[in-house]
Amino acid sequence: MVDTKFINHCNDFDGFLKKSKKAFEERWQMKFESNAKLSEFEIIKTLGTGSFGRVSLVRHCSQKQKIYAMKIMEKAHLVKLKQVSHVMSEIRILDAVQFEFLINMQYFFKGNVYIYLVMPFINGGEMFSHLRMQRKFDEMLAKFYAAQIILAFEYLHNLGIIYRDLKPENILIDKDGYLKITDYGFCKKIDNSRTYTLCGTPEYLAPEIIMSQGYNKSVDWWAIGIIIYEMSAGYPPFYAKDPLKIYEKIVSGKFVCPPHFSKPLKDLLNAIIQVDRSKRYGMLKNGARDVKAHDWFKSIDWDAILYKKVKPSFKPKVVDPEDSTNFDRYEEIELRESEIEEFPNEFAEILLKT
Ligand code: AMP
Repeated sequence: MVDTKFINHCNDFDGFLKKSKKAFEERWQMKFESNAKLSEFEIIKTLGTGSFGRVSLVRHCSQKQKIYAMKIMEKAHLVKLKQVSHVMSEIRILDAVQFEFLINMQYFFKGNVYIYLVMPFINGGEMFSHLRMQRKFDEMLAKFYAAQIILAFEYLHNLGIIYRDLKPENILIDKDGYLKITDYGFCKKIDNSRTYTLCGTPEYLAPEIIMSQGYNKSVDWWAIGIIIYEMSAGYPPFYAKDPLKIYEKIVSGKFVCPPHFSKPLKDLLNAIIQVDRSKRYGMLKNGARDVKAHDWFKSIDWDAILYKKVKPSFKPKVVDPEDSTNFDRYEEIELRESEIEEFPNEFAEILLKT
C-alpha cells in the first residue's frame, strides 16, 4: 500500500534539502570574520570537556539574560595534536549549518591563547547521562530520537558533510525533550569523494574505517545502527575492554540482540549493521528512504518530528535557562594569558572583528 503521507514528507524534505544546500554554500563561502570578543562574556562554570578543549556556561555581559555554552580550545594544544584543520572545519560547519536537530554557532573569535566558539546552551544534558540513568530507552523513545538523528544526517549528507562521531555523549537533549547533535570536530566536507582518516569512537567505528578502506557517509549509517542498538539495549552491540577486541567483533559483523528487542527492531539493525556496504540500509539506491520506510518506523510521522509536533515521552528536569544540574561537575581551571598572539599563521584564516 502506498503511504501518501510518507511520500509527501519525502518529496517536501527533498525540496527543503535542495534549498538549504544553496543557503549553506553561500554561508560556507563567506569571509571568516570573528563577531565577538572574550570581554563580552562572563564565564560561569564548566559544562563538559572534550579531547580538544572544555565547554563552559557563559553569560553575555550586555544582554544579561542571555546564557550560552562556550567551547574554549587552546591553540598550542590543537597545533601539538595536529587538529588545526579539523577545528577550522568544525568552525566553518558550526557557522554554516542551520537545522533543527543540529547545534549551531552564535559567536566565534580568537584570543592570544585560545579559540572560542559560542553556541546556544542546551540545558537538558547529554543523552549519555539520561541513558545511563534510565538504563535503556523503550523502543518508542529510541525511535523518536533515532528519527531526529536520521533527519539531521540526511541534512548533513546532502551538504556533502559526513559527521563521523555519533555517540550518546555528543547528543544533547533540550528542555522540551528534543535533540541537538553537537561536536563537529570530526565532521568533514567530502562532497562525492572518499576519505581514509581513522577517527571516531571505538564502539561506533564502521568496519571500513578499521580496515583502512576509503569511506564516505556509509560510516554514519553504520553509527546510526549502533546508536539505535545502544539506546534500546543500554549497551552497544560490539563491546570489550580492549579496543582491539572491539575492532575484531566489528569486522566480524556478528552481534546478538537482547530478547526484549521487537522483531522489526532486530530486522532494521540487521539491515543497517551490515559489514557489506553494498547491502547496508541507507546506502542502497533509495538512500535514507529505505530506513525511514522500514517497519520499525511505521508509527513515526516524519513531518511531525521535523516540526516538533510530537510530545516527547521524556523531558529533562530544567528549572530555568541557567540551570546546569543536568551536567556533571568539573574542576575549574584558570585560563592562561599571553602578551603575544600565539600561532598567528596557523589560525590566520580567522579574521579579527573589524
Ligand atoms: P565537545 O568538546 O563539543 O564534545 O563538548 C564537550 C561536552 O560539553 C559535551 O559532551 C556536552 O556535555 C557539553 N556541551 C557541548 N556543547 C554544549 C552546548 N551547546 N550546550 C550544553 N552543553 C554542551
